[in-house]
Amino acid sequence: MIASIKIVSISAIIQHSSFYRTIIIGIIFMISNYACNKPYGKQALANLVDTSNSNIKPANPRDTSHHIFLYLTFDDGPTRGSRAVNAIAASDSINITEFVIGRFVFKNDTSRELFNLYKNNRFIEIGNHSFSHANGHYHLFYTHPESVKEDFLMNFDTLQLNHKIARLPGRNIWRIDDRKRFDLEDANASADSLKLYGYKIFGWDIEWRPDSTGRVIDSAYQILDKIKRMSERKTSFTPGNIVILCHDPILADTFNTSALRSFIRLVKAEGKFEFEHLSNYPK
Ligand SMILES: [Zn+2]
Repeated sequence: MIASIKIVSISAIIQHSSFYRTIIIGIIFMISNYACNKPYGKQALANLVDTSNSNIKPANPRDTSHHIFLYLTFDDGPTRGSRAVNAIAASDSINITEFVIGRFVFKNDTSRELFNLYKNNRFIEIGNHSFSHANGHYHLFYTHPESVKEDFLMNFDTLQLNHKIARLPGRNIWRIDDRKRFDLEDANASADSLKLYGYKIFGWDIEWRPDSTGRVIDSAYQILDKIKRMSERKTSFTPGNIVILCHDPILADTFNTSALRSFIRLVKAEGKFEFEHLSNYPK
């Protein structure tokens, strides 16, 4: 009864006095403002702790011994798709390795700017995809292994790269420690010569291929399914490690960016995959 009398009297004040109405609105504003600035809860404080310092170890580090390591790689940058690759890597905190072509970097100011976006993105690691990309004539390119090596070394120097990780244009060829794999024989001598120079040469285990219109053929679910089957059958170059090839230009199409975002969401939901940089291959 008392409460109802109070409510009636407050509503009467609001209706009949602009002075009291101003005061009441002020009190409500103060209460809501206090609520917005209320001290952080324990969980929120925990989220603010910066764990980037290597001296700080989480209390219960996750057990990653049964994890599958995924290496999401993009070839042929920088292109119109580079902004999307950068944005997705940063917004989803996903480690990505981008294989860059020097000839594309020095094309104009925009491509140099895109390259710098990669360089300044801590989730992006830059690999060597040659300076010339064979100018599109792969077989001719690989008939001169010394020139191939020089082309890669020039790319490394002019772009001031940090890692000796390479992918040969147009070939799925591997040189990791003493193990090798290749699709066409013509690039073997070039790969060996780069390996002697200290390079790790990466092909790919799964390609997320586009159709003739530039849109990816497999859905996010289908790519994840391929990854699961490959990890069960242990058919990747190194079991427990799966290298996925995508191409930088296809991310200029929002159909492909949303497919990639879906894929990342699905992978994270599985809880048993980790995105890694190729410089840490294999885990
Ligand atoms: Zn390429």
